Formats: sequence, C-alpha cells, structure tokens
Amino acid sequence: MTFEALGLNTSIIKALTDAGYTAPTPVQQQAIPAAIAGKDLLVSSQTGSGKTAAFMLPSLHRLFAIEPAPAGKTPNQEMQAARARNERPRFKAAQPKMLVLTPTRELALQVTTNTDKYSVNLRRIKAVSILGGMPYPKQMQLLAKNPEILVATPGRLIDHMESGKIDFSQLEILVLDEADRMLDMGFIDDIEKIVAATPDNRQTMLFSATLDGVVGNMARRITKDPQVIQIMSAANKHENITQRVHFVDDLSHKNRLLDHLLRDESLDQAVVFTATKRDADTIADRLNIAGFSAAALHGDMHQGARNRTLDSLRRGSVKILIATDVAARGIDVPTITHVFNYDLPKFPEDYVHRIGRTGRAGRNGHAISLVNHAEGMNVKRIERFTKQLIPVNVVEGYEPKKTGSAPRSSARPGGWKPGDNRGGAKPGQRSFSKPGSSSGAPRREGSSTGGGYKGSNPRSADGQRRSYGDR
Ligand code: AMP
Repeated sequence: MTFEALGLNTSIIKALTDAGYTAPTPVQQQAIPAAIAGKDLLVSSQTGSGKTAAFMLPSLHRLFAIEPAPAGKTPNQEMQAARARNERPRFKAAQPKMLVLTPTRELALQVTTNTDKYSVNLRRIKAVSILGGMPYPKQMQLLAKNPEILVATPGRLIDHMESGKIDFSQLEILVLDEADRMLDMGFIDDIEKIVAATPDNRQTMLFSATLDGVVGNMARRITKDPQVIQIMSAANKHENITQRVHFVDDLSHKNRLLDHLLRDESLDQAVVFTATKRDADTIADRLNIAGFSAAALHGDMHQGARNRTLDSLRRGSVKILIATDVAARGIDVPTITHVFNYDLPKFPEDYVHRIGRTGRAGRNGHAISLVNHAEGMNVKRIERFTKQLIPVNVVEGYEPKKTGSAPRSSARPGGWKPGDNRGGAKPGQRSFSKPGSSSGAPRREGSSTGGGYKGSNPRSADGQRRSYGDR
C-alpha cells in the first residue's frame, strides 16, 4: 500500500517522501480514502499510530482542492489599509476552514508542526496554534493572517470565539483529537459550544482511545453517518493466541519449515501473510503443488475473485490462505487456527491485526513468525508495541544453522522496564519460556534458541544472550 494509492495530491506525497514516510500506517490506510471522500470518521487509535497524518493529510488534500477565495484583503491588510486611511482599524474575524481541537498545548503544537511538514509544498495553506498561555498580542497576530487551519485547545478558543475574533461560519472540517482526554479534562461544554458555532454540513473526524460511554454519545451527536475505524490497541493482548518466532537461515529453510508447520495436526485452517502480492501467488502455487489446498488473496485480484476465495475459506475447501495485509483485514473465520508471518509486517500494528485472524470467537490460536536472523530488531519493535514477549521455538530437524538469538557483542539490555515483564523473571535470572504447542512437532525444549526475552537483563546464567530483542 502506498500514499499514491490512497489518492493524495502529489505535492503532499512529495512532502511525505521528504519526511521519510514510505508507506501509510494502518490507521492512515483506512482513514485517508474515506476522509478524502468527505466522510465523517470515528477512529479509535493510539498516539503513535500515525493518527495526526490520518486526519491531516486528507484535510490538506481537500483544502487544497478548494478554489481559493478571490484575492480579498487578509485581516492584516485590512487593518493596515484602515491605518493608512487614518481610521481606527477594526479587527476582522479570522475564518478558518479547518479546526483541530486537542486536549493539551503540547499536542496542539505537535499537530501544527506536523501540518507544516505535510503542507510544505502547499504554499497557500497555513496552520497556527491558539493555546492557553500564549501572549494575547501574539495570538491576535496569528489570527490576523486568517489561517486556513487552526489547532487549538478548547478553553482559549472559546475566549476568542466569544469576543468575535474567530468566525466558524466557513468551517469545512472539524477534528477532535484525543476526544476522550478532552472530556476527561472537563472540556465537554466548551466543545459543545464550539461545535454549535460551526456549520452543520462540515466534515467531522473524531479520534479517541475509546469510542464507548460519554465519548461515544458525543461522537454520535456530532457526526453524520460516520465511518467507524477501530485500530486495535496494544492493550488487546490476544491472550488466547500462542505466539512464537522461528529463526530461518534463508528462503529455502523458510519454505521447508513452513511446509512442515502447515502439516501440524492441530492446524485446521491457516492464513500465511506475505509482504508482496507476487509472493502470495507464488507460495499459493507452490503449496498447491505440494498437496495443500491453498489460495492467494491480495489487492490485485478482482472483487469477485476475492469474494469467491473468501467463500471457499469459510466453507473449508480452501485450507490455507496466502494473503497480503490489506486483503486480509477483517477476515473473520473462526476455524482459522494458525497465522503465519512468512514475512514480518512493516508496522507493529499490522502484526496485531494479522494475529487477530486466529483465536476468534473465544477459541485458541497460534501465531508463528518465520524470521531471518537480520530481522531481530523488527521482532523487538513488535514486542515493544504489544508489550509482550514472543518466545523463540526450534523444531528438531529444522534448526537454523546460525542460532537465531546468537550472542551479540555490543548489545545493551532492551527497553523493557521491569514493570513490563509479564513473565516475572527477575533481572539476571535465566528465564526460558516454555515452547508452546504451536506446531505439535518435536522440538528442543530450552535449546540455545529456545528462550523468550523475559527479564530486564537479557543475559542468562551462562552469559549468553537469549533474546533477539536488541539487535
Ligand atoms: P502520531 O500517532 O500522529 O502521534 O504519529 C506518531 C509518529 O509517527 C510521528 O512521529 C509521525 O511523524 C510518525 N509517522 C506518522 N505516519 C507515518 C508514516 N506513514 N511513516 C512513518 N512515520 C510516520
């Protein structure tokens, strides 16, 4: 999935490339096309998920597409002209096209900084923050530029609105960022007042860690036919899913191990995730030749073909689905017992989505990642995101030549705080996790690669590192 595929303007894409963004995050993949289409959004996602870009990129795209107003005078120019005429300048209210409400000054500044980054090639779009604690004359100066985008904390904004410095009659897009926190902080009346001052036909996007309770009620009141996007939180730990990593030396080792694991007798149906559509096709062909009933599912397939494949999976005539992330999103087939990461996902959030294809409807599931030795850092990122440790498994007869969690000379202890340590191992304590029943195949318990990363001190008793986590 690329930013181009989401339909964004090329000037925005160039800014993203310059900022080092190579691919949209899961929340961006879902939110951007819907928001470009003008839909209201209710999004539950966490800080760190890329949510700022999820609402700001489509908004910039839409604001840029709007014809600029005929070149009238900005409030600043009007005031200068009045002064030149020796008249007392009258302040003309700013008329923003977009308003982002945030609970804190820090978040508002972060949103404004990111907006500047994303809009660097869109000259006529300006964003300013209006914040409590900022000197009043400075705020008047910013408002006098009549910025298209205002990013504000609710309290200070109300002051300006009530004293006629801001007029929301031209507002097109309203964003409530971290709405749950704003309500926790007691901003509900301010928010209601601000919303009431904006046109009914605005687009509204609400982001919140939760969409339940009071937030949910407000969300329903202020949005129209919203698209609901739920990005699973790290808190969703998938405790009914056994997660394992298997290290592989090369592609041939990976393929042999996959074929072996797919023959596990506890496996009913499986999804194998690949990074590319081509790999999905190739692996499906290879597995069919090897006697599995496999099918590929990816975005290059027509909708009809995708639906037929999903039907076959549901009916059980397809046992193994080889899929890319986007195609597999939302698959809800309770008989999927195993998920394999043939390639690790690009974003840790995708890992959480992927493994959630198994263990549905209260059942248990297995999630197995086949990982090259050089990918230890990516596993670490996933562990950090999910705050869970993924034990390493070795299957007899399929051992990696290089021990996957081999000692690393300059390794530092990882970023785990003792409080994150769900395994309970004390620093310095040897802490092998028991390899689970993910494959049913014989395996070496407590072998040299059999240790999960459990303690805050990843060195085991013999001084060897047992985890891949810090690479
Ligand atoms: P946020 O969730 O909006 O606070 O974003 C978290 C961090 O991820 C910020 O530092 C963003 O600059 C960064 N970010 C957002 N989207 C992407 C992306 N598609 N690729 C790389 N970094 C991103």
